[in-house]
Amino acid sequence: MTVLEQLTSQEAIDLENNYGAHNYHPLPVVLSRGEGVYVWDVNGTQYFDFLSAYSAVNQGHCHPKIVNALVHQAQTLALTSRAFYNDMLGKYEKFATEFFKFEKLLPMNTGAEAVETALKIARKWAYEVKGIDENEAEIIVCKNNFHGRTTTIISFSNDENARKNFGPFTKGFIKIEYDNIQVLKEVLESNKNIAAFLVEPIQGEAGVYVPSEGYLATAKRLCENHNVLFIADEVQTGIARTGRLLATCGNCNCADKNCSGTPEVKPDILILGKALSGGAYPVSAVLANNEIMNVIKPGNHGSTFGGNPIAAAVAIAALEVVRDEHLAENADKLGKIFRAELSEFARENELIKLVRGKGLLNAIVINDTEDSDTAWNICLKLRDNGLLAKPTHGNIIRFAPPLVMTENQLYECIEIIKKTITSFQK
Ligand SMILES: *Cc1c(COP(=O)(O)O)cnc(C)c1O
Repeated sequence: MTVLEQLTSQEAIDLENNYGAHNYHPLPVVLSRGEGVYVWDVNGTQYFDFLSAYSAVNQGHCHPKIVNALVHQAQTLALTSRAFYNDMLGKYEKFATEFFKFEKLLPMNTGAEAVETALKIARKWAYEVKGIDENEAEIIVCKNNFHGRTTTIISFSNDENARKNFGPFTKGFIKIEYDNIQVLKEVLESNKNIAAFLVEPIQGEAGVYVPSEGYLATAKRLCENHNVLFIADEVQTGIARTGRLLATCGNCNCADKNCSGTPEVKPDILILGKALSGGAYPVSAVLANNEIMNVIKPGNHGSTFGGNPIAAAVAIAALEVVRDEHLAENADKLGKIFRAELSEFARENELIKLVRGKGLLNAIVINDTEDSDTAWNICLKLRDNGLLAKPTHGNIIRFAPPLVMTENQLYECIEIIKKTITSFQK
C-alpha cells in the first residue's frame, strides 16, 4: 500500500484503530481535503466544518496566503534551533507583540506547552519579583478548566478521564469555582503565597461557558490589588474567535480595527495557540511585558522547534489574514445572527435547553441527561446532512465554524441545524 492510494472510509478507520493509540473517539467521517469553511471526505462528500479543529482553523482551511508563507519558508529554511539566530523569529516577535500590545513574546509549539511556560514564568516571577519563599508559590485555577494534557496541567483538571491513574500530580494549585468573584476574593485575601490566577475568558471545552458580565475585569482588579498575575488562556478564545481579537479585549485598542478605547481586561500574561497559525503548523506563544518576561534567562526554558522560521512566517501570515479580512468583525456579526436564530428556534423546540456563546464560539445545550447519547446522535445526523460538529461534555454541542464564513453560508448552516434537530422530535 502506498500513501497515494485512495482509502475507503472503513479502511482509514481500521488503520487508525489497529495501529494508533486509542486516545480519541472521533466522529466517523474520514476527511481528505479542506478549503475555507468546507471539508471533503474520501468519497468527495462536502461538509461545513463547525469545529474548525477546536478553533485552530479560524482563517479557514488551507488559506492560500498562509499556505504560501509555509511553502516558501519550508523551501528556504525550516529549522535552526535557538542555538543560532534566524532571520524570521525577530520579525515575528516584533509583529506579534505590536499586534497584541505586549513587550515580549516567548515562542512555543502547542497550547499545552504555552500554558506550562506561563506557569513557569509566573512561579519565577513570584519568587524573584514578588518575594514569595521558594517552593511556596500557589496558582489559582478554575473548576472545569481545560488547559491541555501534560502531567502538570492534568494535576489541576477535574476531568477524571484525564487524571485517573496518571498521578502523582504536581502541587501548587488551588482550584476555585469559575465565574465566582467571592471565592476568588476569599482565596486572595487569605493566602499570601498566590503567584497567579489562570483563567479561560470563556470555558470552551467545558461547554462554551460564558462568565457573567464584568467577571474578568473584576477578577483582574482583585489580582492587581493583591499583586497577583492575571494569566489569560486564550488558546481557544483568542485570534478573533469571539468577535474580538481577544476575548479579554472588550473595547481595547488592539490591532482589531473594530476596537477602540481601553482594554476591558489586559492580562499580565497572555497564552495563544491554535489559530495563531491558522491551523497550518503548531505555533503557540506566551506574551507579557518586560517586568514579567525578563525573569526568563538563557537556559531557564526552551524548545527545539519553538520559534522556528516556518512557525514565524506562518504566524505572521495567519495574523495578517485575521486583520486584513476583518475576521473579528465577521465573527461578531455572524455570531449575533447565529444566536438570535437558534435562540428563537429553541423557544419552540424542547430538545434545546439553551444557546450560548460569543462571536462564533457557540454551543447548544441538549435537554437530556448528561450521560445520554442524544448530542452524539445529533452530530451523526448533522454529518449526514452535511455539517460537522462534535459534542463536548455529554449533552452540549459546540458550533465553531471558520471565521471566513459568509452570511449566506451561515443561513444555510442554520437551516441544516434546525432541520436536523427537528427530525429528532418524537
Ligand atoms: C486546546 C487548548 C489548549 C491546549 O492546546 P494543545 O495545542 O492541544 O496543547 C489549552 N488551553 C485551551 C483553552 C485550549 O482550548
